[in-house]
Amino acid sequence: MPLNPLYKVIAGTCALSWVLATTGCAQVSSVEAPVPVSADVYADQTGDSRFEPGALQQQASGYSVQSGNLLGKQGVSGAMVVIRAPDGAVTVFVDREGNRGLLQVDASGKRTFTPDVEFDPLQLDTVEDKPQETRLSALPAPGAVTYVDALVGFTTQALAAREVDPYAFALGQMEWVNLSLRNSAVRNIELRLAGILVTQEDIPVTTAGLSTWQQRLTALRSSYRHDINAGFSVGGDAGGWAYRPGYSSVNSIHGTSPFKHEMGHNVGGAH
Ligand SMILES: [Zn+2]
Repeated sequence: MPLNPLYKVIAGTCALSWVLATTGCAQVSSVEAPVPVSADVYADQTGDSRFEPGALQQQASGYSVQSGNLLGKQGVSGAMVVIRAPDGAVTVFVDREGNRGLLQVDASGKRTFTPDVEFDPLQLDTVEDKPQETRLSALPAPGAVTYVDALVGFTTQALAAREVDPYAFALGQMEWVNLSLRNSAVRNIELRLAGILVTQEDIPVTTAGLSTWQQRLTALRSSYRHDINAGFSVGGDAGGWAYRPGYSSVNSIHGTSPFKHEMGHNVGGAH
């Protein structure tokens, strides 16, 4: 393993703008009035259920995000997150009984659905850590939202294994957690994407990979000022690993739900 690995951005100005999108890159297109993604785009993913979208959130990067529950005859039957890229490409996270995965529709209208890989829900996936010393800080004002900023990393191997727009995928992962928080009536905590990066270093979904992601992403804190680290990888021995409690996780690119699960461990939740 190299002692001083350099993060490399995938060649191309588009990838560069993904990385710089949250730091004011001039290449990012200007923000336009948000337009919801047409229901026709994801109609065949919802089955008998109806999508109940929440507010359309327009990002400074030009991406838009919308999420909500799926409602069937028996009540809530699942959830969906819909992300639209500035070029019109759409990424949809679908979580419905018998239909979990990613629908991607590129700017030319070509559709691809990649189902999630199901991971063994009983497998241990935490590395127990000593609770951090808590600093005394002022309580937030009533009604104020505390933002948790995440730096999200991808290995090139993971992006080759599941061909996603990493920026859309990272935004969707944040929103997946935010939707869960809202569904749990938690209104004062929100995840935010601080930035994404891509590394050619192969970091697998193992406890060693967890340690590597933590080191690599924490090293960039002075640039991104982020709170948590999330790595998306391929290969290894689990759907994800997280420190418990902690601020880092490694997650399989083949699942839409591991990150949500591992975040629960980061904040101290048992398996
Ligand atoms: Zn777990």
